[in-house]
Amino acid sequence: MDLYDIVIAGCGLSGATSARLLAEQGYKVLVVEQKKHIGGQIYDYRNEHGITLHRYGPHIFHTKIKQVWDFVNRFSEFSNFQHHVLSFVEGNFIPFPINRQTLNLLFGENLKTKDVSVFLQQEVQKSEYNPSLPSFRDAVVSQVGARLYTLFFEKYTEKQWNCNPDTLSSELAGRIPVRDNNDCRYFSDKYQGMPVNGYTAMVNNMLAHENIHVLLGCNYESIKNQLSAKLCVYTGELDRFFDYRFGKLTYRSVKVEFKTYEQELFQPAPVVNYPNDYDYTRITEFKQMTGEKSNKTTVCYEYPSDDGLPFYTMPNQENQHLRELYMKEVKQLEMTGKYLFIGRLAEYKYYNMDLAIESAMKRIGLWLKH
Ligand code: UDP
Repeated sequence: MDLYDIVIAGCGLSGATSARLLAEQGYKVLVVEQKKHIGGQIYDYRNEHGITLHRYGPHIFHTKIKQVWDFVNRFSEFSNFQHHVLSFVEGNFIPFPINRQTLNLLFGENLKTKDVSVFLQQEVQKSEYNPSLPSFRDAVVSQVGARLYTLFFEKYTEKQWNCNPDTLSSELAGRIPVRDNNDCRYFSDKYQGMPVNGYTAMVNNMLAHENIHVLLGCNYESIKNQLSAKLCVYTGELDRFFDYRFGKLTYRSVKVEFKTYEQELFQPAPVVNYPNDYDYTRITEFKQMTGEKSNKTTVCYEYPSDDGLPFYTMPNQENQHLRELYMKEVKQLEMTGKYLFIGRLAEYKYYNMDLAIESAMKRIGLWLKH
C-alpha cells in the first residue's frame, strides 16, 4: 500500500476523473471500488441483442463548460445526439419540457413565439403560489401556472421523491427549462452527445494510465487503516464516511427494470415520461440514443425507491441542514491537505455528470497548488 501517493475511494465518474488528473501530474494512484466494475452509476454494457444498456438508468452527456467537454473528448468520441423527451399526458405523447409546441398540441392553440409568454402569464395569474418562500411547486407554478404543473410535474415529482412537492427545494425546478420557441430538446447546453463506445469504455480510457491502479470489489473502509497515502479522494456517501455521526442523509434509489421486445422500435422518443400513469416515472429506449441497429429493442422502466443503491440526493431542507453539519467536518479534513470529498455522493449535491467532472477539476487543481 505504500506504493501509492494517493488513494481514491470509488471508481465512478468523479473517482476516475480525479485519478486521471492526479496521475497526469506524476502521482501514483490507487482507486478502490466496492462494485465489481468501473464507472459507478454510469456503467453500461452491450446486451445479447447488440444494444448498449445503462445498468443504473439513462445518462445523456450535456454541458455548457468547454473545459469539461474537451476533457471527456480526450477519452471518447461523442455523437451529436440531442436528447428529446415526450411526456404521456391525457393519453397523448406531448413534447417536454414545456415549449410552444407543447402548448399548441395540448390546448389546440396556434401560439406564435411572441404569444407564449403572454399565455403562460395568464396561466400563472389564475394560480395560487407562494412567491416569497418558494418550494418546488411554487417555483414551477410561478413559471407555467397550476394547470400545467398538475399535468406534467405534480405526480411525477411525488413518484420520484415520495413526498409532497411543497417540501422540495425550488432549485429542483431549475433543472427543467421553459421555452417560448419550438426547441423540444431536453437540454439547452451547447455541447451534447453520447460517447460512441459507451461510458464504460470512456472511463476505462480515463483509467488507462501507468500511474493508475484499480482494485475492484474492495471496500475503502476495510483497508483505510492500512493506507499511508498523502491524499485520500473520497467519492462515497458523505454520511457513511463519518459513520453517520449526525444522522443519516437520505439518498433515493431507482429500481431499473429492462425488457426486450420483438420489434424494431418501442416508443416515439428516446425517453417517455409518465407523470400521471403507472408506477414508473419514465421509459428509456436505448437504441434511440445510441443509433444501434437491431430487429429487437430493449427498454428500461424506472421505479423510484426508498432503498437500494444511492442514486439521488434529496433536495429538501432537512437534508440540506444535515449536509451542512457534515460539510463542516469535511472542511476541517480538507484543510489538512489529506482529504478531498468529490462528487454527487460525497458532496451531497445533485450534480449532473459534467458538474461532477468540473468539481473534480477545480478541487484537484486547488490541491495541486497547495
Ligand atoms: N420532473 C417532473 N416531470 C417530468 C420530469 C421531471 O415533474 O416529466 C421533475 C421531477 O421532480 C424530477 C425533476 O423534475 O425529479 C428533475 O428532472 P430530471 O429529468 O432532471 O431528473 P433526472 O434525469 O436527474 O432523474
